[in-house]
Amino acid sequence: MTAFWTEPDYDDHELVQLVRDPVSGLTAIIAVHSTHCGPGAGGTRFWHYAEPRAAMRDALRLSRGMSYKNAMAGLPMGGGKAVILAGSDKVKSPEMLAAFGDAVEALGGKYVTAEDVGISEADMVAVSKRTSHVSGLPVQGDNAAGGDPGPFTAMGIYLGIKAAVRHKLGKYSVEGVHVAIQGTGSVGGGVAKLLAKDGAKLTLADIQEDRTKALAAELGAQTVAADAVMGVACDVFSPNALGAILDDEGIARLEAPIVAGGANNQLARSGHGAALAERGILYAPDYVINAGGIISVAMEYLCRQHGDPCDINEVRKRIAQIPGRLEEIWQASDSSGISPDVVADRMAQKLIGR
Ligand code: NAD
Repeated sequence: MTAFWTEPDYDDHELVQLVRDPVSGLTAIIAVHSTHCGPGAGGTRFWHYAEPRAAMRDALRLSRGMSYKNAMAGLPMGGGKAVILAGSDKVKSPEMLAAFGDAVEALGGKYVTAEDVGISEADMVAVSKRTSHVSGLPVQGDNAAGGDPGPFTAMGIYLGIKAAVRHKLGKYSVEGVHVAIQGTGSVGGGVAKLLAKDGAKLTLADIQEDRTKALAAELGAQTVAADAVMGVACDVFSPNALGAILDDEGIARLEAPIVAGGANNQLARSGHGAALAERGILYAPDYVINAGGIISVAMEYLCRQHGDPCDINEVRKRIAQIPGRLEEIWQASDSSGISPDVVADRMAQKLIGR
């Protein structure tokens, strides 16, 4: 692995730690980008990387993204992220999770972990046996926040889509508004259900076609092939599957005046935010609109640290602030001519003292 501070994605990260445990076979990288607003919070990814450098890049980029996301969500949390480098067999053992928990604990609360791709709630329960600096744990009781962040993320995106429709199309309801949703998993499926209740017209797409067809039948929605959804003529294109889909080719294919969805890192490069604006497409910066999940897990963590139960209504109240933050970004963008992604980055940088 090359010196991480010479990587292009290194952005004065406060801490980058390689964790090795030969007994369990754990190799992990923990990156804390900023603790300006509070402990560096962000999930752990379990992934097989073709080369270690790709894992380092992921840890650096994702932890900086968490600094921005947490700051823009108004949370008293900084940004961090961990990646566990899976072998090609992708085997994850209890010993590995225990060693990872020990490494998180050793940082004394500078990094707070949660689920990310490849890590389940059960995995976080295992990690929590070794450290208290963990969130996204199962909750007891109907009014307690925490657990799977997916539904909270979906709620924020649904509210963000309504704000975008108001801003761009001047409509105060999504009834009859056509939304094309890429990815119908935890987040995309949740967004679809919320929009369907309001009478939106939906087109759904996922590489898991059976799942999408079943959801479409339940909601009275259309389906389209996964490789066709970006070209659907609609009011809102909502990406809820993969990152980096908004590249030159993807943007050229869009037939929607709004892009608003939950996938992380939707812009392939920073200049692609401007490319969307040049086409007159309103973009909801991904880390602002998809903050509902981190709001839930961060509040769950903070309440547990103080020994208090976490009231789900407090979480909902904070998620309800997402549309206002988006509106602020779009207004600043409209008046300055600077694309919304850059406006958001500048706001976030200011909030974290950079
Ligand atoms: P998920 O695994 O539940 O769902 C993702 C879905 O996307 C799957 O159904 C998958 O089959 C589908 N998919 C994959 N490739 C596709 C393609 N080429 N075309 C169409 N569909 C495709 O994951 P999720 O939790 O719903 O997360 C979705 C996105 O939102 C990810 O980018 C994730 O990083 C981001 N995100 C999730 C949360 C959360 O709380 N879960 C929070 C913030 C951001």
